[in-house]
Amino acid sequence: MRLVDFHCHLDLYPEFETLVAECERLGIFTLAVTTTPKAWARNNKLASSTKYVRAALGLHPQLVAERWREIDLWERLLDETRYVGEVGLDAGPRYYSSMDRQTEVFRRILHSCAEAGGKILSIHSVRTAPKVLDLIEEEVPQGRAKFVFHWFTGSAADARRAADLGCYFSVNSQMLTADRGRALVSSLPIDRLLTETDGPFTSHGSTPTRPRDVAQTIKHLAATRGLSIEDTASIVLRNLKALTA
Ligand SMILES: [Zn+2]
Repeated sequence: MRLVDFHCHLDLYPEFETLVAECERLGIFTLAVTTTPKAWARNNKLASSTKYVRAALGLHPQLVAERWREIDLWERLLDETRYVGEVGLDAGPRYYSSMDRQTEVFRRILHSCAEAGGKILSIHSVRTAPKVLDLIEEEVPQGRAKFVFHWFTGSAADARRAADLGCYFSVNSQMLTADRGRALVSSLPIDRLLTETDGPFTSHGSTPTRPRDVAQTIKHLAATRGLSIEDTASIVLRNLKALTA
């Protein structure tokens, strides 16, 4: 069974290099998202010689209040990658005060991706799904980029709007073990579903989730959608191929 972890912060684990090697050994397609463009060089170097790990160029909305100046570096590096993330907006209580700055940075990110063409973005949208969708519509002409909503927590209507725009959704075990998350994931188009861990920000038992634990997510997803584990894994793999084709 081939696994997909389309949103993992590999560089935030103490055993970063070991985990990259583990993804390679187990054949787990892993998107190594980053939170600052300063992390890009190291991630890109490690991922560039792998078959299964890809690095994404990010500027996390939760860091924008302090690191917004790094958008210049982010823009300079964009040519080096097809994958972008983690980027987006966060209107949670701790980050709401930087919303103007976050919006400005995210708009620049979307604008640069639209100009470059062919990018795939892993998007954070805590309490901001409608606004993220507005910005995508405003800045990115159809077909100029592809979007994957990571850990989507918007409404069913927001999800439909995202799906109509062609977006994908990477879902994790924490979503699939909560009633609201299960209801949402049941309503998403099956051909837009990917899996993720968001490790190390989620846990598997008493340890941070690692990409191989996405096997558990496949089990939960299979149960949620009433499919076999094998069929679910192959659907996710097929979706990844369609996304990256
Ligand atoms: Zn994340």
